[in-house]
Amino acid sequence: MEDCIFCKIIKGELATELLYEDDQLVAFRDIDPQAPVHILLVTKEHIPTILDIEERKQGLIGHIYRVAAKLARENNIAETGYRLVSNCNKEGGQTVFHIHFHLLGGRSMQWPPG
Ligand code: 5GP
Ligand code: ZN
Repeated sequence: MEDCIFCKIIKGELATELLYEDDQLVAFRDIDPQAPVHILLVTKEHIPTILDIEERKQGLIGHIYRVAAKLARENNIAETGYRLVSNCNKEGGQTVFHIHFHLLGGRSMQWPPG
């Protein structure tokens, strides 16, 4: 946890402009954007992967979807469309082991993903 880049951002140890914050989540722009809008929604609690979500924390996922919709509207990608993805473990493409969702929009998304 001490070396976790997202924990450092949440603690304010790495200067990062927050687009959203509440008691459960923060959101900020990805440092290496893969789309014109690329925002990360990150849980305040250090939970390594989506596999570690326990029953008592299920509500957190619904909350993330609500906040993502709000950020999509604010960033004018709600009507054109967006993708909300969470990568899990190596083959899922996860590189930071602290739960986060990518909100991507502003261009056409491929399906299937690469
Ligand atoms: P993952 O590959 O785990 O699904 O996503 C991790 C994301 O975090 C990547 O898209 C990467 O660009 C982003 N990221 C890594 N380090 C930083 C950082 O220090 N600041 C910000 N804003 N994004 C980061
Ligand atoms: Zn962390």
